[in-house]
Amino acid sequence: MSLSSLSEVRERFEIVIGLEVHAQLCTRSKLFCPASAAFAGDLANVHVDEYSLGLPGTLPVPNRRVIEMAIRTGLALRGEISRRSVFARKHYFYPDLPKGYQISQYDQPIIRGGVLEITGDDGQPKRVRLNRIHIEEDAGKSIHRPGGEGSLVDYNRAGVPLLEIVSEPDIRSPEEASRYLKALRAILTALEVSDGNMQEGSFRCDANVSLRPMGETEYGTRCEIKNLNSFRFVEQALEYEVSRHAELLHEGKTVTQETRLYDSDRRQTRTMRTKEEALDYRYFPDPDLPALDVPQAWVEREAARLPEMPVAKFERYAKLGVPRDAALFLSEERELGNYFDAALQAEPELGPALAQLIMGEILRELKEDSTGIRQAKVSGPDVAKLVRARSEGTISSTQQKKLLTQLWRDGGDVNALLEGEGEQVSDSAALEPIVLRVIAENEAQAVEYRAGKHKLIGFFVGRVMKEMQGKANPKAVQDLLVSKLGGGPS
Ligand code: ADP
Ligand code: MG
Repeated sequence: MSLSSLSEVRERFEIVIGLEVHAQLCTRSKLFCPASAAFAGDLANVHVDEYSLGLPGTLPVPNRRVIEMAIRTGLALRGEISRRSVFARKHYFYPDLPKGYQISQYDQPIIRGGVLEITGDDGQPKRVRLNRIHIEEDAGKSIHRPGGEGSLVDYNRAGVPLLEIVSEPDIRSPEEASRYLKALRAILTALEVSDGNMQEGSFRCDANVSLRPMGETEYGTRCEIKNLNSFRFVEQALEYEVSRHAELLHEGKTVTQETRLYDSDRRQTRTMRTKEEALDYRYFPDPDLPALDVPQAWVEREAARLPEMPVAKFERYAKLGVPRDAALFLSEERELGNYFDAALQAEPELGPALAQLIMGEILRELKEDSTGIRQAKVSGPDVAKLVRARSEGTISSTQQKKLLTQLWRDGGDVNALLEGEGEQVSDSAALEPIVLRVIAENEAQAVEYRAGKHKLIGFFVGRVMKEMQGKANPKAVQDLLVSKLGGGPS
């Protein structure tokens, strides 16, 4: 007997997952030196200075913004802000770590505990406990050239500030892991502490997973999958690991505690290092940095400027009648959410229609252009004007689409465009000849309509709209058709 399907595995074993997220903070300069912390793409070694290169005699000076961001994150995630925390050296040798150690926090992190609320697999709200949040510097990047042509090192990322957010092993499925990560990314972007850009590695995750037989209280042996940088890869890698562990346990074998890598092409994980060779990091307090005392005034200042959290946003949108999926998406995508909010401010009553337009047409345009909503030539309030005109029937949905496409491409004055469209629409003297012609040309349908098949009205409206190239007021067209056809619905 073999355990083939994931559902079979889930009947026999409980999945236990804990996540360690590294989020790059969006400061201008690095954690301990003035070099730029910006992403430089293919331009290697352009954001380096003496400190980033670990040259002897250089000293670290903490970036105040990093401390503020850590406090803000701790408050939003309801952790305890430590009055005193300590920077520690974590030693290991790697060519992309020129100092020979990374400055991190160890036994005295800046934030202890905390919670993140997600929707559990049972559909109910679920609280995932956090273990800690600490500050650390990133390492550089090794670039291994293909075909054994040697390796290169890029130090742009060396010394860039990170927050590491460590969960307790409270997550119970790959899907919950993915929802946890989406919720966490949404909070960090809402707080403006990270841009959450996963392609650029600003938000990446190490996933720990183990299985235990149903009813067992002790945790099983875990494996850690390193450096996952997409929600999809996290889910796939965890699913693969869950099946692998299940097979081993099912065959009476044991799981070896180890660190693994996910190969997204092969959709498999493979061993990176086993814990027998466990690295001895030789942590100790960094003698170049005093203990970090957080003034109460800083905590109060950050508390006073916490923005609306994604969960609150979601609830606000849901109350307006926006469908749950759309409400969740708009509450987790900060910039689209801001755009939606700007539109809502102009037309508070039209939430569902506005959300529908953003989730449909606008997301499609954004994908085609592969740009961000901030670069859009149409503002949220402009979109609100289109939706208002549509809801009042002064433009048709075809016209709305046409105007949006035009504005998206060229920008322009919405009011003027709407007036231009509006001129030809509801004038019944202008519509009458066309209405009469369409009725005459579709005699058979007219007979059926008069015999009671009233849903054919849609067919006639469509024909007239087509003749008018979408420029007629559909309400006016329908009214006129009903009166000319006779016997229609009142
Ligand atoms: P380490 O000190 O080796 O980093 P921690 O105890 O700090 O280990 O845990 C690291 C991560 O692994 C945490 O996110 C934690 O929730 C998770 N974790 C710990 N034990 C297990 C387990 N048995 N199964 C799954 N995840 C686990
Ligand atoms: Mg760890």
